[in-house]
Amino acid sequence: MSTRKKKVLISGAAGFLGSHLCDRFIKEGYEVIGMDNLITGDLKNIEHLFKLKEFEFFNHDISKYVHVARDLDYILHFASPASPIDYLKIPIQTLKVSSLGTHNLLGLAKAKGARILVASTSEVYGDPLVHPQNEDYWGNVNPIGPRGVYDEAKRFQEAITMAYHTYHKLETRIVRIFNTYGPRMRLNDGRVLPAFIGQALRGEDITVFGDGSQTRSFCFVDDLVEGIYRLLLSDYAYPVNIGNPDEITIMDFAQEIIKLTGTNQKIISKPLPQDDPKQRQPDITRARAILGWEPKVQRAEGLRITYEYFKSLSQEELYNSAHRFS
Ligand code: UDP
Repeated sequence: MSTRKKKVLISGAAGFLGSHLCDRFIKEGYEVIGMDNLITGDLKNIEHLFKLKEFEFFNHDISKYVHVARDLDYILHFASPASPIDYLKIPIQTLKVSSLGTHNLLGLAKAKGARILVASTSEVYGDPLVHPQNEDYWGNVNPIGPRGVYDEAKRFQEAITMAYHTYHKLETRIVRIFNTYGPRMRLNDGRVLPAFIGQALRGEDITVFGDGSQTRSFCFVDDLVEGIYRLLLSDYAYPVNIGNPDEITIMDFAQEIIKLTGTNQKIISKPLPQDDPKQRQPDITRARAILGWEPKVQRAEGLRITYEYFKSLSQEELYNSAHRFS
């Protein structure tokens, strides 16, 4: 009997989601080849894997030609800046990684006869006019607004992935990821959860953008990883939303973080960024039907785990958290 381990290439391996996927595929008995150019990723997220013979890492920008000498069974494309302030500061790289980078990985998948899963996003729905968002909704995106560099790159990514599927018969999967949180989020990535917890830990006021009536629906990272794992191994080539439908306003979320951390700081208002979606909630009917998947971790439990992670960071990490590109 063959004992050959399946091989998976993960782009964005040193990032928040990529590193959790590396852990999961190692645990499932795969050989994992991680790739990252470390613009927003951090080797700390995967340093525990370097001692394993099943894990290999390449520092490479996938928007340039990607060479992998070995055979591959699967490719997971998770490389991209993923927070609004990141893609505001590095807009061209953001566009390139989901366009040129996706093209390179699709070409690699075709050459290797590998199945590829690409990380898409609820941002393809933009500031949605349909609520909750199901996969048949085409979205409401401003192509030339500040978020356009991310949203349109991800929409292009879906288009080229489907083209490889229909034209080249490539095995492709598309996951539309809704706001996800958990350990290894970057404290300075500007997203709402690390922003609020970082502020609480540093004794700063909590910055709610706008009047805080905008909503998000937060999914714990372990639930997301389970959904992605199931989607990869399914035979479904069309987009699937993976997220937690438990929707909350940002103001209520700020109150939850204040309660969780016990901070005495007050909530202050900051201007709402341009094109900030007013509401977002995944319709996960498709994921339930096709993958038998739904989230298991309640927000109270997920937030507790995530808070423990942020508390374990050093003072230097906590205070040296000016934005990377500023
Ligand atoms: N937000 C906020 N204060 C912050 C950071 C973000 O009120 O310090 C808001 C932001 O305007 C948005 C929501 O929280 O309405 C989620 O923002 P995030 O950047 O985490 O993700 P996205 O907008 O991409 O869902």
